[in-house]
Amino acid sequence: MNLHEYQGKQILNSFGVEIQRGLVAQTAEEAVEAAKKLTEETGTGWHVIKAQVHAGGRGKGGGVKLAKSLDEVKEIAGDIIGMNLITPQTSAEGKKVHQVLIAEDVYYPGDSEPEEYYMSVLLNRANGKNMIMYSTEGGMDIETVAEETPHLIFTEEIDPAADLLPFQARRIAFNLGLSGTAFKGMVKFVNALYTAYIKSDASLFEINPVLKTSDARVIAVDAKVTLDDNALYRHKDYAEMRDIREENPVEVEAKAVGLNYVDLDGNVGCMVNGAGLAMATMDLIKQAGGEPANFLDVGGTADAERVETAFNLILKDPNVKAILVNIFGGIVRCDRVAQGIVDAYKNMGNIEVPIIVRLQGTNADIAKELIDNSGLDVQSAIEFQEAADKVQAVLA
Ligand code: GDP
Ligand code: MN
Repeated sequence: MNLHEYQGKQILNSFGVEIQRGLVAQTAEEAVEAAKKLTEETGTGWHVIKAQVHAGGRGKGGGVKLAKSLDEVKEIAGDIIGMNLITPQTSAEGKKVHQVLIAEDVYYPGDSEPEEYYMSVLLNRANGKNMIMYSTEGGMDIETVAEETPHLIFTEEIDPAADLLPFQARRIAFNLGLSGTAFKGMVKFVNALYTAYIKSDASLFEINPVLKTSDARVIAVDAKVTLDDNALYRHKDYAEMRDIREENPVEVEAKAVGLNYVDLDGNVGCMVNGAGLAMATMDLIKQAGGEPANFLDVGGTADAERVETAFNLILKDPNVKAILVNIFGGIVRCDRVAQGIVDAYKNMGNIEVPIIVRLQGTNADIAKELIDNSGLDVQSAIEFQEAADKVQAVLA
């Protein structure tokens, strides 16, 4: 589950990572009230206004702006709230902004030397160890740094048995070129960041930029946080941070009924049981000259109701030109699945795209007969290649 910046910062702060003081606003008026409150607390009259959407690169898209007065807060917040923010990380349509974060400007006006660093904590899947990735080149996107100046990216791997050791945090501060108060501040920052990552069961914490102010404070200015869904049961308060407005609506609907659905860009919808078979089926679709429109694993029970729900989800995608059902009847019998497909098809009554059904396993031949005799516009197959040929034919 991805979080908004302001939510990620709340978590960071609860583990002792320093952040800018900020408040969330849904309207321009709320933004002005928030700015007044912040000025009372911090004394600064300058505020940064930041679109809260699940996408990075907001600054480039005009979603991060500085306001030097309350009038500017009102104007900028009014512009950003409700806009479709397009960034290098969103689709061409962009993402609708429902709320903004108003925060104190920690890049002090007149500060000649604010330093920006990059830091993230994530799992290195190649060796199963967490690592801290960091760079002196903060504020730019890390992919560009990796491409152009890879020697400026450092990593620190953490042994799960030993945890983050003091010398490692010091090495990070040293490699970032810090000394004195800023060095100590960075060591504290790294320790708190890593603790937050572990304790919140996160899979990613990306802080870009980490800011060092001229008075040597080390502050998380941005926060991209991904939490492990499988651990959310341990964090009821984090689970409530979910913002389904940011998620794909069809995926949200599928999740609610317990189906594993991932939306993709192609033209052939697929309904499969088992993730491995789903992968193979997507390969099959590509070989047949199509592109998978989705990943959908219906799991062990492929009865009429479930099949109908799955068809409905797939058909919500206007790009779908054909549907391939590829189910292995191991635990579930093929004839039961076939009956489910026939019942669902009749029940829905308005399916306009061709459907190819490949059922293999227990009672596969009975299943094929059932489909062939149904009188419906459904093509059946038993062999993998047969199914591929039929997909190719309907796409041609
Ligand atoms: P992103 O574009 O989505 O990654 O959003 P960030 O939170 O990283 O902000 C983008 C850029 O805006 C940062 O790299 C900073 O240079 C700038 N920025 C962010 N917060 C402040 C702030 O409080 N004051 C000033 N002056 N600039 C800021
Ligand atoms: Mn950023």
